[in-house]
Amino acid sequence: KTIIHLDTIEKRFAEAAVVPPLSLSIGEGEFLTLLGPSGCGKTTLLRMIAGFEEPTSGEIYLDGKQLGHVPPYQRDMNMVFQQYALFPHMNVEQNILFGLKMKKVNAAEQKQRLEEVLQYVQLTELRKRTPKQLSGGQQQRVAIARAIINNPRVLLLDEPLGALDYQLRKSLQLELKNLQKNLGITFIYVTHDQEEAMAMSDRIAVMNKGRIEQIASPAEVYNHPQTLFVATFIGENNIFRQEGTCTAVRPEKIKLYRTDEQPDKHRYKGKITDAVFLGNLRKVFIRLDGQDLTVMAHQYAGDGLDWQVDDHVAIGWSQADEV
Ligand code: ADP
Ligand code: MG
Repeated sequence: KTIIHLDTIEKRFAEAAVVPPLSLSIGEGEFLTLLGPSGCGKTTLLRMIAGFEEPTSGEIYLDGKQLGHVPPYQRDMNMVFQQYALFPHMNVEQNILFGLKMKKVNAAEQKQRLEEVLQYVQLTELRKRTPKQLSGGQQQRVAIARAIINNPRVLLLDEPLGALDYQLRKSLQLELKNLQKNLGITFIYVTHDQEEAMAMSDRIAVMNKGRIEQIASPAEVYNHPQTLFVATFIGENNIFRQEGTCTAVRPEKIKLYRTDEQPDKHRYKGKITDAVFLGNLRKVFIRLDGQDLTVMAHQYAGDGLDWQVDDHVAIGWSQADEV
């Protein structure tokens, strides 16, 4: 069931089309990620859904009802930002309860909701601390608690983990994903990090210059990218250009051979320019006919394929692995 529908919405700043006309439906309970490089219009799109920014044209629907000029606080959705925007002089509880207090929700209900969300985000022990007594990850949990306490239908998250270090980001990705599934809230999540999008999403909308180039499951966009942009933005790909067409092949799908094994059979030959040891894999860089490519070679124990710089190699792949 569709919860949000964007009907040919468009955003121009001055004359620049930041988001060209775009349509999109988001399912109830779905975790949808807007993924794309910095400046491609992700935040602008999210802010239009939230109501902070008015579309130049087009309509946004929530549960089939046109949102039009409905202000952000009446949209049954909340937004979480990269900069958590907590009140520095308030403690965890006060920060989380702020919205409910403004809405004059009765005290008993406030108390009950507070206990629930504190448990959800694992902050029960830290409830009396102020933001500066918390780590970055804990502050982001407060921001998320504050955003879910009034049971919104939709949560909009704009690079919420962007300010955190790698390890913490990895663990919070899983936490957030579990939270989303447990609560059943629809998430529209913005990131420029393709690994993060892969790890968390039901569907990924890959954006380039305001347009959605592909919208599909993580496996689908990885295995069957529909455009050259998607093929190179999601994971690594080698692009072979010949006779006006392009073929993309993932580094792990290319096989390396010694050129002295059946030298006539190989169509592509080149020379290794670098070989990086990565534990169970070796990342091999090859120069071939004026083109550089990358191959992930497995380190099979004892097969003698220990690739070295300046080795002459032939490469091959199976047609089924072209993307
Ligand atoms: P992203 O979140 O993907 O990095 P944004 O949506 O923030 O991208 O920005 C997309 C483009 O729109 C950028 O080129 C940015 O400079 C431009 N832009 C965003 N907000 C405004 C604004 N208020 N006025 C003019 N240009 C803007
Ligand atoms: Mg942004």
